[in-house]
Amino acid sequence: MARAAAEGTWWDLAACSSADPDLFFPISASGPALAQVMRAKAVCATCRVRPQCLQFALAEGPMEGIWGGATEEERRVIVAHHSASPRPSRSVAAVPA
Ligand code: SF4
Repeated sequence: MARAAAEGTWWDLAACSSADPDLFFPISASGPALAQVMRAKAVCATCRVRPQCLQFALAEGPMEGIWGGATEEERRVIVAHHSASPRPSRSVAAVPA
């Protein structure tokens, strides 16, 4: 998170800046840790820079913890979904005359 702070001003507006950092690093995303995940996500839900945070985490690649309101596993699914999305065709036939 310190790296994010150094790279952009969005971090200055983070709702979690005054929260316990441990809240955002549960030991898992299920079982007894689920309540912690939900509390962290509740903070993220109020965060004005949630999109920027999620974009940062997606761009950084695998990182532990909850970023942008998403767990590591949820971010993995987002990345996989985007990787599987068909891209617009750039063939000559697709270009309008
Ligand atoms: S979206 Fe969540 S983790 Fe990201 S800056 Fe906001 S409160 Fe912190």
